[in-house]
Amino acid sequence: MALLSVKGVNKRFGGLQALGDVNLDVKENTCHAIIGPNGAGKSTLLNVLVGKLIPDSGSVVFDGQSVLGRKPHQINQMGISRVFQTPEIFADLNVMENMLIPCFAKRDGAFRMHAFESVRHEKSMIEKAEAMLDEVNMLDKREMLASSMSRGDKRRLEMAMCLVQEPRLLLLDEPTAGMARADTENTIELLKMIRKERGITMAIIEHDMNVVFSLADRITVLAQGTPLVEDTPDNIKGHPKVREAYLGE
Ligand code: ADP
Ligand code: MG
Repeated sequence: MALLSVKGVNKRFGGLQALGDVNLDVKENTCHAIIGPNGAGKSTLLNVLVGKLIPDSGSVVFDGQSVLGRKPHQINQMGISRVFQTPEIFADLNVMENMLIPCFAKRDGAFRMHAFESVRHEKSMIEKAEAMLDEVNMLDKREMLASSMSRGDKRRLEMAMCLVQEPRLLLLDEPTAGMARADTENTIELLKMIRKERGITMAIIEHDMNVVFSLADRITVLAQGTPLVEDTPDNIKGHPKVREAYLGE
């Protein structure tokens, strides 16, 4: 059975059909990549999955429960965490304070800046955050101000903020966008490690084919809001429709 099942989802912005009859199943313990040209509807689809956008029609079921009609923080509490296209961290807080916010949100719902103050003396939360920072090799940066970190480290922190919530499904929107090669390689290794050690199911939007082919078990190609083809990475590589529509051949 699929952990996440999207059926017949449509979303219009005025005259533009951003998503047209999208069907997508993400199986437990797999990494499912969604690729497609700019404007294909990838981010729109992710926004529907996390409750930031309400589709015009269709259904989204996570672990047997409908996601539609729930608020983003409720969907987050159901076990879906998301890494945004541009890192959403709190620039004026240090690394540890940032980490405590999702810990709080998992329990109490609100994902807001001063949430860390409510949990900063809770030993179990702090230990959890420290263990996660250690896992992503950032424990030595726990006192560092988020705004002063490199782009790669901000990404790493954001990823750790998702993982500390122990999600069952991790959604990633272009996690390596704008990264230098070395940071991209580090991100691939981090995501591989997460999968191996934690068995977290992932859906990843990514334009870097090296990242996609390193991680994905299944790939869906989205074009003009509609899935063009879904297959294994090997089959996608050789697919004539994909080469034509996406790889520009
Ligand atoms: P992708 O992430 O694949 O590049 P998006 O999902 O961001 O594509 O966008 C799909 C299409 O929907 C684009 O044509 C985009 O301009 C449009 N779009 C996205 N969000 C909105 C919005 N909030 N209002 C109007 N149009 C939007
Ligand atoms: Mg996008």
